[in-house]
Amino acid sequence: MENKKNYYLEGEKILQELASLGKKPRLLVHSCCGPCSAYPLTYLFPYFDITIMFNNSNIYPEEEYKRRLNELYFLLDCYKRDFGYDIKVIEVPYDNETYNKTLEPLKDIPEGGLRCFTCYEKRMRQAMEYASENGFDYLTTVMTISRYKNAQKLNEIGEKLSKEYPNVKYFFSDFKKNNGQLKRNELVRKYNLYEQQYCGCIYSYEEMKKRKENA
Ligand code: SF4
Repeated sequence: MENKKNYYLEGEKILQELASLGKKPRLLVHSCCGPCSAYPLTYLFPYFDITIMFNNSNIYPEEEYKRRLNELYFLLDCYKRDFGYDIKVIEVPYDNETYNKTLEPLKDIPEGGLRCFTCYEKRMRQAMEYASENGFDYLTTVMTISRYKNAQKLNEIGEKLSKEYPNVKYFFSDFKKNNGQLKRNELVRKYNLYEQQYCGCIYSYEEMKKRKENA
């Protein structure tokens, strides 16, 4: 049987090393929404100088995209007020039509398969390109917090990208571990964050509508 890496422990090792350095490296965090960012930001903030990239043109329709982005800004305002976090957001312009040209050929593959792996990589690669060109030390994504996302795959993609862009290290994670999911849910309740009912793309949106009709 394949011996899988424990990416959560890999991330913990990085944090231990950073704690002894006494200086915060620059980390670009790919964020898909407020609820998924809530816990990872509290976990990472003591160790990193964080900037967020919101590049999620997978989200359909545009109103939903705006709602998720606004919720992220709301969360960051709360964190600034409550914890003094000062986190900048880089917004990549929304273009679902172009983005969907990548997903459309994979539309019949169920959620959790190749369509999603392609979608993860597309957004992470764009973030990695930006990180590499703009002097960031590390890249990560908050997506490993989600029970519906494949954390193994996300970390494998991150590892691959850090080999292609050797000036940026990848911060490995499984933010669900060590009660991460529970802490996420507590923060979502505390700040009364809007939680979406589907992952993002038009195919997951249609699947959600079907689920509701059949409920
Ligand atoms: S279900 Fe989510 S991860 Fe999968 S393709 Fe759609 S938006 Fe991307």
